Amino acid sequence: MNTKIVKIDPGNPRMDCIREAGRVIKEGGLVAFPTETVYGLGGNALDVEASHRIYAAKGRPSDNPLIVHIADLESLFPLVTEVPPKAERLAKKCWPGPLTMIFHKSDMVPYETTGGLDSVAVRMPDHPIARALIRESGGYVAAPSANTSGRPSPTLAEHVIEDLNGKIEMIVDGGSVGIGLESTIVDFTEEVPTILRPGYINEKMLRDILGEVRMDKGLIASDSSVRPKAPGMKYRHYAPKGALMIVEGQQEKVTDKIRKLAREKIAAGYTVGIIGTDESVGEYPQGIVKSIGARSEEESIGRHLYSVLREFDECDAAYIFSESFDTPRMGQAIMNRLLKAAGHQVIKV
Ligand code: AMP
Ligand code: MG
Repeated sequence: MNTKIVKIDPGNPRMDCIREAGRVIKEGGLVAFPTETVYGLGGNALDVEASHRIYAAKGRPSDNPLIVHIADLESLFPLVTEVPPKAERLAKKCWPGPLTMIFHKSDMVPYETTGGLDSVAVRMPDHPIARALIRESGGYVAAPSANTSGRPSPTLAEHVIEDLNGKIEMIVDGGSVGIGLESTIVDFTEEVPTILRPGYINEKMLRDILGEVRMDKGLIASDSSVRPKAPGMKYRHYAPKGALMIVEGQQEKVTDKIRKLAREKIAAGYTVGIIGTDESVGEYPQGIVKSIGARSEEESIGRHLYSVLREFDECDAAYIFSESFDTPRMGQAIMNRLLKAAGHQVIKV
C-alpha cells in the first residue's frame, strides 16, 4: 500500500488536508495523527473492520483494547451506560487533555474495539489537528499509539514512518508531540476511581479533584502474579533491542557505577549506550552517551524518553545503562515506562 504523508502545521491546520484525512477514516481507512501525548493510529471506532485493521497494522494482540477519541463532551454519553458524577467533574477539569477514562460500554461500541471487554476507554485529546480530525471523521476515532506493538510509542512522524509506512492509508506529520508519554488512565467502573496507567496527570492532581483515588495493584505489586487491569500494561512494551539496566541511588554513586559498568562492557568488546541528563552527560567519558533532557525541567525527560530508546536501537547498543528519573511531578509516569523497557532490571547503589 502507498502511504500518503502530509505535513500539517498545528498552529494553522489546513482544513482541506484534515477533511481528506477524515474522509479516509470515514471510509474505513487508517490515518496516523499527532496528539499532545504520542502519535495515534486512527480508525473509525464504531467500524468492526477498521478495528481489525488497526490490530493488524500494529501487530497488536487482539485482547488489548483501543481508546476511543472524541472531540466534545456530548460525544461521551452515547458510548457508555452511565457517567458517574466524579468522572464528569474530572472531564470538565482535564478534558481536552492527557486523560483517559474507563466506563461501562453501551451497545454502540463494538467488542472488536474493546478487546472483548464490557468497558470502554475514552479520551478527548488536546491537539488542534487531533480534534479537527476527529470531528471530520464522524466523531469517534479509535487510536492506539501509532507504533508497531512492542516498540516505543512514536513522538515524531518519523517514528510512525519507520513502523507503519506501507501499512496504512495516511500519516499526518504535525511535528513533535508535547508530552511524549501516553495518557493517564483512570477506571471509573470500580467503586473508587483507580489509576490503571500513570501519566502527565498525576496521582496528586487526581486526588485534588476526586478525593480518594487508588493505584491499580497490578502496577505497584512487586509480585508479578498480580495482573494489571489495563490489558496493555501486562505486555513488555517499549523494549529496546539492547539489554537496558537502570542504576538507582545517590547521583554521584550512580554516575560512578555507570562509568564502571560501561568500562567493563566496552573492554569486553560490546557497544554501550548511556542515558544521562543535560546535567550529567559530561561525566561519562566512554560509550554512546545521550541526554534524555534536563532534571531542572522534568517535562523534557518525558518528551525525549521514547526517541532516545529508538536511537539506541539504531546504533545497536548491546547494553544500555540509564540513570533513574524519579522526578517530583512526572517521575511515576516516566519510571513506569522506563522500568518496563528495562524488564525491571534495576541496580541499586
Ligand atoms: P495505547 O492505545 O497504546 O495508548 O494503549 C491503550 C491502553 O489502554 C492499553 O494499556 C489498554 O490495555 C488500555 N485500555 C483500553 N481500554 C481499556 C479498558 N476498557 N479497560 C482497561 N484498560 C483499557
Ligand atoms: Mg501503545
